[in-house]
Amino acid sequence: MKLIERVEAIMQEQAFEQETHPVVVSNGALDALVDYVGDQPIMTILLVVDEHTFTAAGKELDLKLKQKGLKPIVHCLLPNDLGDVIADEQTIVDLLIQVNTHVDCLVAVGSGTIHDVVRFVSAKIEKPFISCPTAPSVDGFNSKGAPIIVKGVKTTYQTLAPVALFADLSILAQAPIELIAAGFGDMIGKYTSLTDWQAGTLIADEPFNQEVYQLTKAALDSCVEHAEAIGNRELNGIEALMNALLISGTAMSIFGASHPASGAEHHLSHYWEMTYLEENKKQLFHGAKVARASLIITQFYKEIVRASLLEESTQERIELVELIDQLPDPAEISKLLRLAGWHQEQAPIDEELIQLSLLKAYHLRDRWTLLRYYHETLHWLPDL
Ligand SMILES: [Zn+2]
Repeated sequence: MKLIERVEAIMQEQAFEQETHPVVVSNGALDALVDYVGDQPIMTILLVVDEHTFTAAGKELDLKLKQKGLKPIVHCLLPNDLGDVIADEQTIVDLLIQVNTHVDCLVAVGSGTIHDVVRFVSAKIEKPFISCPTAPSVDGFNSKGAPIIVKGVKTTYQTLAPVALFADLSILAQAPIELIAAGFGDMIGKYTSLTDWQAGTLIADEPFNQEVYQLTKAALDSCVEHAEAIGNRELNGIEALMNALLISGTAMSIFGASHPASGAEHHLSHYWEMTYLEENKKQLFHGAKVARASLIITQFYKEIVRASLLEESTQERIELVELIDQLPDPAEISKLLRLAGWHQEQAPIDEELIQLSLLKAYHLRDRWTLLRYYHETLHWLPDL
């Protein structure tokens, strides 16, 4: 059965209604977006872009909508002093000022951050938004969560999923390789997130759903199979990656929590992101950090946690060791990441911050992972 058919079968089984409909991943999806808008009672549409995504897709979309007789308005999000567009209070207020009562619908034209800003504003003004990803860079396009930085602290608000999603493969394939590699990195992180999820059910009865597990694993496997095609920007590789990211997002929505897609590797990545924010450093791509964290966590589990578990041979510990042994070796993960265009300079985290995050990052979320188990059960140390 094809992956997408499995997704549909599982959604039916779990009585899960997709809020985002249609979801179009194809060549020419931009035309499908214009046709979709033409069929809705929409007159004024606000395209939210940044300077890069305006060139990549916004300009063409603006033109096509005008040809259809619609009245698009383009709002360009501005970068901060470091050159980053950030989902923070300033960017949100800038967009709110631009939105007037005549706007019927917003379109997020871009990658993760633009989606977070539009998702938040769209929910506040109670107008729908359409997702138009310009890079296969992250697994949150079709989710409800909007991580927003307020007064320097990042909080995820549960808001709205897009009403429809149109991802044009020819646009995605032209995205910077760092963004494509970041999307692949976000998916590679599922090796350890799925291991942590299984471990969490053994250690602390974290909730579990076998179908959602299988769905996320199938999305990960499909990415791994296409690693080289992804790195070469071949359309079948880009399509596999985009679909995998959307399936991962759908899996989280079906489950109602982020367990399938986020484990200790994401906790490390969040810790690094917060440190970079505090130190006013230029941000790294989410998936680039997750890739680096996946390598570090896999190595930590295979070398440190495994040895510590083997000091006693209880049933629980034997099962946890088996879970760790099923993880691929860091060298294998590293090879896949390189094939897909990722290299360590895309996440140049220094050794001191890595060590600090291995000690402290598990405090960031109330979630059982093998990293937390190691610190709180196997190797308890007073808090540093
Ligand atoms: Zn992620």
